[in-house]
Amino acid sequence: MTRVAMELVMADEGREWYRDGLRFECTQCGNCCTGPPGAVWFTDDEAAEMAASLGLSVPDFRSTWARRLDGNWSLKEQLTEHGWDCVFLDRTSQPGKAICRLYNARPRQCRTWPFWPENLESPDAWENSRRTTPCPGMGQGKLVPIESIRIQRDAPG
Ligand code: SF4
Ligand code: SF4
Repeated sequence: MTRVAMELVMADEGREWYRDGLRFECTQCGNCCTGPPGAVWFTDDEAAEMAASLGLSVPDFRSTWARRLDGNWSLKEQLTEHGWDCVFLDRTSQPGKAICRLYNARPRQCRTWPFWPENLESPDAWENSRRTTPCPGMGQGKLVPIESIRIQRDAPG
């Protein structure tokens, strides 16, 4: 590694205030899948995966479960007493839980929460997101190691 590359790595590690890991364990409250109107973005590959998991063609999947938003594709939402729920949020199968009906095929945006770059910018950003979502899993439960956080933070979208 060159000296410049080494300095870049060290600068990057200096920003990783979470280098000792962060605690996170989902309680299946569903709060991150609802709230004000928003978007659940997905790529073409993810569309194919979601469509396959539902036994649909990609065009049928898109026309039934997705919508165009700002030139991209997002999953649809539906207004409930909790807010704008993602169409795949299931609040009835398990009493007291809100679970994802597409869990094994959910898009990167969902798989990488809460380790999004904007949540990892600083301890304040992490805390703000934990409080405003609110996400009771952030800061609780299992210690997620830095290696796993980096993979989720840097996942290509
Ligand atoms: S808000 Fe947090 S605890 Fe609740 S479902 Fe989402 S990740 Fe899990
Ligand atoms: S796809 Fe699943 S995890 Fe993602 S927002 Fe919808 S219900 Fe939540």
